[in-house]
Amino acid sequence: MRNNLSNMQKAEIQISELFYSIQGEGLLAGRPSVFIRLAGCPLRCDFCDTKYAHDPKAGAEMMVDELVDKIIKHSAKYAVITGGEPMVSPQINLLCEEIKKHNIHITIETAGIKFVPNLACDLMSISPKTSNAYGKQSDKDMYLKIDEIQKLVENYDYQLKFVAEKIEDITEIHQVIDNLNGIDHSKVLLMPQAKDAAEYMKISPLIAELCKANGFAYSPRLQLLWPDEK
Ligand code: SF4
Repeated sequence: MRNNLSNMQKAEIQISELFYSIQGEGLLAGRPSVFIRLAGCPLRCDFCDTKYAHDPKAGAEMMVDELVDKIIKHSAKYAVITGGEPMVSPQINLLCEEIKKHNIHITIETAGIKFVPNLACDLMSISPKTSNAYGKQSDKDMYLKIDEIQKLVENYDYQLKFVAEKIEDITEIHQVIDNLNGIDHSKVLLMPQAKDAAEYMKISPLIAELCKANGFAYSPRLQLLWPDEK
């Protein structure tokens, strides 16, 4: 026990930001949640709205126990570990373990590029990337790792959240799902690609129709309610 505590106190993690807000996306949209944005992402998606978290040195280094103290001060029932790409953080296992000691529901938001076993994670929120993220076909293998996504959906409760902007995206989304085994379609969501509320309002009716036609769920982007926040 003493060893565990001292390891935890020594462990440092790079945090881009920590804030308390409303989950804006996915099956848990609307839940008050503490967001822990880890620094570092190896991808460069065209539509990325958290470019400031790409650098593994973005933000500040913090001890894991100090971070967990800040999280529990919000008395939230939900924590969302996001990024960047949280699954590449060397401390992801420890962070989940320490948050879970406080009986908080944990969502990890990931692009699905790396499987990590035995995480104390309640919902693996996977956003598989299609060509609207990476553009060049030669980049596909770096952005879309079917084998890693397969292991994630087999080992965790999950949602598959696809960013969609046009009818043609549906073909690629079906290809991704067809390449995976045993996907529960009720856990597949389409989320409109939009930089701001005006774009969101414009594209949402099309994405809602695509959800209806394909039996997928619609994911809102409630964060657009705060247009001045990053
Ligand atoms: S995976 Fe996420 S954080 Fe990384 S570039 Fe893509 S959208 Fe941005």
